[in-house]
Amino acid sequence: MKNQRLETKCVQGGYTPGNGEPRQIPIVQSTTFKYATSEDMGKLFDLEASGYFYSRLQNPTCDTVAAKICELEGGVAAMLTSSGQAASFFSVFNIASCGDHVVCSASIYGGTYNLFAVTMKKMGIEFTFVDPDCSEKELNAAFQPNTKAVFGETVANPALTVLDIEKFAKAAHAHGVPLIVDNTFPTPFNCRPFEFGADIVTHSTTKYMDGHGVAVGGCIVDSGNFDWLAHADKFPGLCTPDESYHGITYATKFGKGAYITKATAQLMRDFGCSQSPQSAFYLNLGLESLHVRMERHCFNAQKVAEFLESNDKIGWVNFPGLPSNKNYALAQKYMPNGTCGVVSFGVKGGRAAAEKFMKALKTIAIETHVADARSCCLHPANATHRQMSDAELAAAGIPGDLIRLSCGLEHYEDLIADIEQALSAL
Ligand SMILES: *Cc1c(COP(=O)(O)O)cnc(C)c1O
Repeated sequence: MKNQRLETKCVQGGYTPGNGEPRQIPIVQSTTFKYATSEDMGKLFDLEASGYFYSRLQNPTCDTVAAKICELEGGVAAMLTSSGQAASFFSVFNIASCGDHVVCSASIYGGTYNLFAVTMKKMGIEFTFVDPDCSEKELNAAFQPNTKAVFGETVANPALTVLDIEKFAKAAHAHGVPLIVDNTFPTPFNCRPFEFGADIVTHSTTKYMDGHGVAVGGCIVDSGNFDWLAHADKFPGLCTPDESYHGITYATKFGKGAYITKATAQLMRDFGCSQSPQSAFYLNLGLESLHVRMERHCFNAQKVAEFLESNDKIGWVNFPGLPSNKNYALAQKYMPNGTCGVVSFGVKGGRAAAEKFMKALKTIAIETHVADARSCCLHPANATHRQMSDAELAAAGIPGDLIRLSCGLEHYEDLIADIEQALSAL
């Protein structure tokens, strides 16, 4: 399906049934797979032959859905994971270990920040967080001899900062390391980071790809463009023999498939963050309408953002689709068809007014989720970040009055009407 359009790949990618085979992807609900001889199975364990033996590592349903996402991103290999968090962790841990260092945009999802700054630090991997708007000089200054990757988020959740992918890719490649991009918010329908130099893409498929609030999941896609062997000294895990697989060297044996093969063979084997085939099936149902839904999410968010900007009870609005937004130019460059359906804004009157406004909403529900068919909103100062004072919130770039609104697939006039009636309660 290489030359077909994204819309067609959303519907039919990853799976071409043969004569008389199921039209919909089969759910292979089996932990294990049968072989005639021990030698047959031994070849799989040695990575001498490809095939399935245990669903902790690989499952046909999951691979079918990963193949669809791989086609959408324009990659060469992909794997599903149990969550977006697992995808972020694997994406870095596959090429960095104790004593290594990673350069990371400071504007990333809070859960990723915690994973990197707290948990992976305990594993001996240090992260330097850089302002995404920093100059090339400042960005280059963040690298160390032990830097193994650069990480950023296309459109950050919830700050909605747009990553200058080309700037980050250029710096990463000048230092001989890959750029990993979390592309959850735009999805490949709105942005394909490989076209701008990113090497690896991660997703929380829990968000727009599923899109119905049904299944937690993640995905990692490799562009196949990064030349590991050209930087063999930095990536011994890929470029020297793996003793746990009888001395095979991933980069020489698997070429462009090396990164995903290593992540599957080592990390899935050892950590087991696999997605269930049932969840992968739900994810595929979401993907079949991704292109139709993304257009509507973005359209609704644009309408809502424009309404908010023109309302005098609203203090400020942050949405990269507004020409007044500081990320507008970057968004136009990387995502000319739209970014995502999430808008953040502040109600005049601060934390207390935000609280009162949210309580008065009827159609829009209060949830920690985003990117669902149903509109939802969150007041971080009173939910995910409630332990922080106003001063601490300001330092973290989350004003006390910030409301994150995820515009669903309802009619935008009903969303605006709900916001209007809630504002009138203030
Ligand atoms: C939600 C989210 C994650 C984490 O994904 P889970 O599926 O919840 O583990 C990672 N990155 C971004 C941008 C997210 O929005």
